[in-house]
Amino acid sequence: VKSPPPGFRTVLLHVKIIHMLSQKGKEMIIYEGYSYQLEQILADGHTKAYCCPNKKCNGRVRLCNEDVHVVTEHSHGPKPEENEVRALKCAMKQQAEETDETPRQIIQRVQENISRGGAAIAPSYRSLQRTIEQRRKAIEIIPQQPADIRELQIPAHFCQTINGRPFLLHDSGPDDENRFVMFFTEENIECLIHYTNWFSDRTFRVDPLNFNQLYIIHASIEGSVLPMVYILMKNRTENSYRR
Ligand SMILES: [Zn+2]
Repeated sequence: VKSPPPGFRTVLLHVKIIHMLSQKGKEMIIYEGYSYQLEQILADGHTKAYCCPNKKCNGRVRLCNEDVHVVTEHSHGPKPEENEVRALKCAMKQQAEETDETPRQIIQRVQENISRGGAAIAPSYRSLQRTIEQRRKAIEIIPQQPADIRELQIPAHFCQTINGRPFLLHDSGPDDENRFVMFFTEENIECLIHYTNWFSDRTFRVDPLNFNQLYIIHASIEGSVLPMVYILMKNRTENSYRR
């Protein structure tokens, strides 16, 4: 079980400064109920200048070693609840990406950590659930392509079926230079044992994943040919097939 990502912990502990990323992936902080976006890193190389995202406001702070120095005050009041919700949503998205917890589990953690004021303006359960689902869909696009197949990390949500059953049942591992991975469910193997009329299908050069071959074993079940096992292989030598 993975521990909650840092975002949750910082919100939970009510630390002075919450670091987060904006919708567009820009560095932001929340400090005393105000949000700020990174404007520049100063010439010393570690002091960061942040400004209020409200263009009409000149609110600015500088951050150096987690010490905040207020440069210019805001022309408006703080919005602690709004920023709390923003930080929690950001932590929630991070968790959606990095864990395979259910939306319910993730939202529950948001609800446990939110203040009463924050809860009053937080999006509905349904809306949070949609945010998590959208986030997960967005990252379902092929994982970042590693230069070497040995570096490929298969995200947790690819390792199970939509019903939550194990799907990645064999991975020869990152130490294998002829790495191969096999996706199937135990049910599929039972089908292969039961229906012994098999067909194989090969697709060469599966470029997006740096594997040279996708090998699919189908079974003929009562007149239908259904895919049962998917094998991604680095090479197509006899030795790999034997393995
Ligand atoms: Zn401001």
